[in-house]
Amino acid sequence: MIIEDETKIARFLQLELEHEGYTVGISSDGRDGLNKSLHGDYHLIILDVMLPLLNGMEVLRRIRQTSDVPVIMLTAKDDITDKVMGLDLGAQDYMTKPFAIEELLARIRVIFKLKSTQTTSHYSSSLKCGNLTLNPDKFEASYNTVPIPLTKKEFELLHYLMLNKNMLLTRDAILENVWGYEYMGDTNVVDVYIRYLRSKIDQKFEDKIIYTIRGMGYQIKDE
Ligand code: CA
Repeated sequence: MIIEDETKIARFLQLELEHEGYTVGISSDGRDGLNKSLHGDYHLIILDVMLPLLNGMEVLRRIRQTSDVPVIMLTAKDDITDKVMGLDLGAQDYMTKPFAIEELLARIRVIFKLKSTQTTSHYSSSLKCGNLTLNPDKFEASYNTVPIPLTKKEFELLHYLMLNKNMLLTRDAILENVWGYEYMGDTNVVDVYIRYLRSKIDQKFEDKIIYTIRGMGYQIKDE
C-alpha cells in the first residue's frame, strides 16, 4: 500500500513495484490511506510523512494500535525528528527523499525476508551459513557442532548478518539494526566487532564466511 500525495512519486513507485511482481494499492491522503491500510490485506505500507487530512505520523500511530504490518516511512531530507519519531512509533524503516528506487526495493526485500524468517521460526529456528549454525532461541552458535562462544553483541551482529546472508550490508545498516538508531558512537564499532567475529570464526575454522566489500560494508557468504 502506497500512501503518498505526490501523484508522480506514487505512480512511479506503483509501476516499479508492480514490475517486481507486487500487487499495489495507492492512496493520496492520510485518512483514506489509514482506512485502506486497516481494512485491506496489505503486507507492507509505504507511508509519506507530509500528507493531507491526516499526517503520516498519525496514520502510523493509528495503524500500530491494531496492526504490526511493516511500514516504511518516506521522510524529508535530513529531518532527523521525523526519522526518530517514525521509528519510535514502530516504523520498520525509512527512506529519505529523494531516494533511489533500487534501495527501496532492497529494503522491501529485507523486510519480507525477516518476516518469513520470523514466521517460520517455530519450525526451524536455526540459521545456516555453510558449516556455521546459529540458533537464536538457544543463543548458540557452532561450526560443525563445535560451539563458538560469543558475547551478546557478537551474537546479535552474527544473527543480523546471517538473516541477510549473501546481501551486502552497509556499516550504517548494521549499526542501525544491531546497535539501534539511538547509538551515537563511532561507526568503527562495526569494524571492531567484525574483527572479533573473524577471530572466532574465519581464523579458527577452515571456511571464510565474512567478506569485506571495500568502501561499502560487509557480507556473509556460504560458498
Ligand atoms: Ca507529501
